[in-house]
Amino acid sequence: MKRTLYLKILLGYALLGIMGFVTVFTLTSRLTLNYIEKKTISSLYRESNLLAASYAANYYRGTMTLTDVKTQFEAIADYLGTEIWVIDRNGKILINSLPDSAPETVIEDFDISSFGTQYYQKGTFFGMFPEEMLSVFSPITINYKVRGYVLIHRSIADLTAYKDGLLNISYITLAIIFFCAFIVLVLFTFTVYLPIRKMTRAAKDYSEGNFDTSIDIHTNDEMGYLAASINYMAAELSSLEEDQRKFIANVSHDFRSPLTSIKGYIEAIMDGTIPHEAQDKYLNIILFETERLNKLTQSMLELNKFGVKGSMMDITEFDVNHTIKMVVQSFEGVCKQKKISFELILTGQTCFVSADMSKIQQVLYNLIDNAIKFSHFESSITVETTEKNDKVFISVKDSGIGIPKDSIKKIWERFYKTDLSRGKDKRGTGLGLAIVKEIISSHNENINVISTEGVGTEFIFTLPMAPKESGL
Ligand code: ATP
Ligand code: MG
Repeated sequence: MKRTLYLKILLGYALLGIMGFVTVFTLTSRLTLNYIEKKTISSLYRESNLLAASYAANYYRGTMTLTDVKTQFEAIADYLGTEIWVIDRNGKILINSLPDSAPETVIEDFDISSFGTQYYQKGTFFGMFPEEMLSVFSPITINYKVRGYVLIHRSIADLTAYKDGLLNISYITLAIIFFCAFIVLVLFTFTVYLPIRKMTRAAKDYSEGNFDTSIDIHTNDEMGYLAASINYMAAELSSLEEDQRKFIANVSHDFRSPLTSIKGYIEAIMDGTIPHEAQDKYLNIILFETERLNKLTQSMLELNKFGVKGSMMDITEFDVNHTIKMVVQSFEGVCKQKKISFELILTGQTCFVSADMSKIQQVLYNLIDNAIKFSHFESSITVETTEKNDKVFISVKDSGIGIPKDSIKKIWERFYKTDLSRGKDKRGTGLGLAIVKEIISSHNENINVISTEGVGTEFIFTLPMAPKESGL
């Protein structure tokens, strides 16, 4: 089906060729022959009239001898490529331009009225010729009396040969036209058909959701512009799809982590793992998580308002030390289970930064969540803040399984998990760090990782320090 257009054009081309040759072979051939015959008849008729009025009449008047007339006729017949006769009214051939012709031959069944109203005839002329001839006659009139006839015969085969010669020119012209059409076809193939085929293929890929295909046409014409437009459209569609996917993945991930933590604490409270006296503290953590979820929902609604691209940043000045403490606290339950301790090395009492607090909470949450997940039992995790120039460096360091060298670059990719971690954490989606990276990038800050397999991992990111006067 894909090649239908091209097949149609090829078929059209072949048809054009065949029709051209058939037309020349039949119609043009017949028309040409008719034309040649007509022309020959009229010129022979003029000639026969002239001969009838001159030599033949002179012969009848006795002013020229038979031999003289015959000699003249021989020369003229030779020149015209014809046979010239003079016959009397009864059909006796008096003069024949053929040098070795039998004298005084009588044409059997000769009847001048068989010519009808015409002055020419086609055929073997009363069986006198073995082949088809064109015979033109003019009466020889002396004193208003018809004394005989001048006849000029020309072979139709001669005319046909002449016509074939002319037709050869038509065939050559047709072949040249056909060749020119072929060049046009080749040009069409390269400039129109192949580009269209490329675009059709690409469009098919796009319809199947594969936007990686790009159309490789860079000509400076309509095809080139069309291809560039389609490529642009595909890129836009692709990024739209990518953004949507990213958005949904991020949102689900952000929802899952706090819900898991809330569920854990409620279960612990219900089954009495957390004693009655300590419940307040955990209820506070639950409240903290619920607030985060609430905020998340709100920012999602906000995000929805502004489209899927980019997210609204809510930059405020806040104490990142306090945020770290709150986030660390929310992991207390899990840490107790794994007997993991936290070491917080924070600069001063407070450390104010300018950033989107809920998003930085999310970053810390994801990094600490990873640190705990990939740490061994009874190990320690260090969270440290240091100030340098106008930046605050925040580091989350564990002494867990570490990240293999080949994977270091890939951990930021969405859904990527190292083989080491797969066994340890089956529930992880591999989205945490992608979100972290995106949040830090949207703050125009950096995040780095230093890790040694089997030794531990440290993530360090920067945040801009809040201006001193407003921070104090
Ligand atoms: P999720 O965060 O959705 O629960 P995840 O933790 O597996 O899943 P990421 O936080 O994006 O996903 O981390 C990606 C991968 O990077 C992890 O699966 C793990 O292989 C590796 N990784 C991240 N942090 C550490 C760490 N502290 N120690 C060792 N490996 C880590
Ligand atoms: Mg994670």
